[in-house]
Formats: sequence, structure tokens, C-alpha cells
Amino acid sequence: MSDKLTKAITKDGFFKISAVVSTETTEQARKFHNSTPVATAALGRLLTAGLLMGEELKEENAKLTLQVSGNGPLGRVIVCANSHGEVKGYAEHPDADLPLKPNGKLDVGGAVGRGTLSVIKDLCLKEPYIGQVAIQTGEIAEDLAYYFMQSEQVPSVVSLGVLVDRDFSVKCAGGFIIQVMPECDNKSLTRLESSVGELMSMTEMLSNGMSGADIIKYAMHGFDLELLGEREVGYACDCSRERMEKAIISLGRTEIDSIIKEQGEAEIVCSFCNTAYKFNAEQLESMKLIASEKTKS
Ligand SMILES: [Zn+2]
Repeated sequence: MSDKLTKAITKDGFFKISAVVSTETTEQARKFHNSTPVATAALGRLLTAGLLMGEELKEENAKLTLQVSGNGPLGRVIVCANSHGEVKGYAEHPDADLPLKPNGKLDVGGAVGRGTLSVIKDLCLKEPYIGQVAIQTGEIAEDLAYYFMQSEQVPSVVSLGVLVDRDFSVKCAGGFIIQVMPECDNKSLTRLESSVGELMSMTEMLSNGMSGADIIKYAMHGFDLELLGEREVGYACDCSRERMEKAIISLGRTEIDSIIKEQGEAEIVCSFCNTAYKFNAEQLESMKLIASEKTKS
């Protein structure tokens, strides 16, 4: 993992800021999914948000899922993150393509379409926390800011950017989230709003070679900052042959039986990293046996 995430707080405690450079993470996703530029941009922005939000999970084994379900050509975009700086994700149709917008930018909003944004936090309690809002623009950052306000009642500034190179590889990716703490006064809030309005875009900051710490200092210029540290983050998939076996077993005896009869073997491809797991008839038979035992008990 070679991407870095930096956190800070203003000394008055009014604002919390995290910034991440997620170029490697996004390029890894693009390689796994062989995605078009617009799909890379959409998934990259959501992966970046996943890294920033995953960092906020306090519990050791907590997990975060971000799901953008729009009616655009990309289909669903899903990102899973944890509190250890790991993230993974995929778009249902990574080959979706759209013409550039009149301003020359990738049409992420058009590729996502309208629908819902869901945030699922599994905090290792009985029930996961689920927040859902309507997609506002499909550009991801605006939708997340809307989510923070509506579902968590935390006014936030969210900036996410992915720049795709001519050869379709990821030139740079990153983002920041500024969250307004409840004790913040109106004067400081107005000051933040006016300074944020004048910032260059995320991809400009990244193109200038800014690190997470640089982005925080730049976005929060004029505020007294305390940097809270930096950590390495990156793309990581935790799929395994054992997990895929469990998934097959959970299909149940009848379903496994029909796979054996119709296909003679099974291949499951991980949606997150495209690793293919193959199971022959003999292996499927033994899984069928486990499935039948489970039904009996
Ligand atoms: Zn995988």
C-alpha cells in the first residue's frame, strides 16, 4: 500500500479534516476491472470516499459499504472499506461509456444517473447502521455531502477527484472531507465557506503534486491546524477459496446438484478483484454433502 491518508483538526476543535491521495488505489481498481475512463472516475471517487470514511470507524472489525444505485449505464457502484486503510470496489458495468461533457470533463453524473446512495456501517453490533439518500447529481462528492447533512446531521465539504490519462491509466486521484463539529460558531463557518469556494479543483491540487498534508493546509489556510497523523492505505481484496466454497454451500443441495448436472463444474469470479475460483464435479459433490448435512441439522 503506497497511498497516504492524513488527518487533522483545527485547534479550536471546530473542524475535522481528512485528505487522501488515492492514485495507486484507483489505478489498481482500473487494472482489475479494465474500466472505461468514466467508470474509473466514478469508482475512483467512491473508493476515495471509502478510504476517508473507513478511517472514521472506531471499532476494530467494523466495515463500511457505500452503494450508489443509479439508473445510468454504470449500474450499481459498490465500495467496501474497513478501519485499517483497506478498500475494494466495483461497478456493475465497468465498460459503460459516455461522451465527455461540453466542458471536456468525464460525465460521471450521467454514467451514475438517478437513484439512491446507501451507506451501511457494520459496527459489529446486532444490526448494521443504514443511511440512504436520493442521488443529487451522481457526481459522488455532492451526493456524499448531502448524505452527511441529511442522515448524520453533519455539515460537510466533500471534494473527490480522479484524473484519467490518455492511455486510460489513472494520472492522479484523491479527496478530502471537512466536517463541521457541533460547537462550531457562525463566524468560523462563514470563513470556511468563503475559503472553500475559492479552492482549485481536487485534480488540480493533485496534478500539482500535493500530498494529503499539503491539501489539508491549503484547504484550511488561515485556520490553526493540528495534524493528527498519516497512514498508508490501499486496495485490498480479502476473497479466498474457502469463502467461495461457503458461498456455494449456501446455495443449498438442490442448486448445487443442478450445477453439477448442467455444467459439471463451477467457476466463481470475485467481483472485487476478478480472481477466478474453479471447482470440479468431485469438489462440488463434497460441498453438496455439506449442504445436505446443514439442511438436516
Ligand atoms: Zn477478490
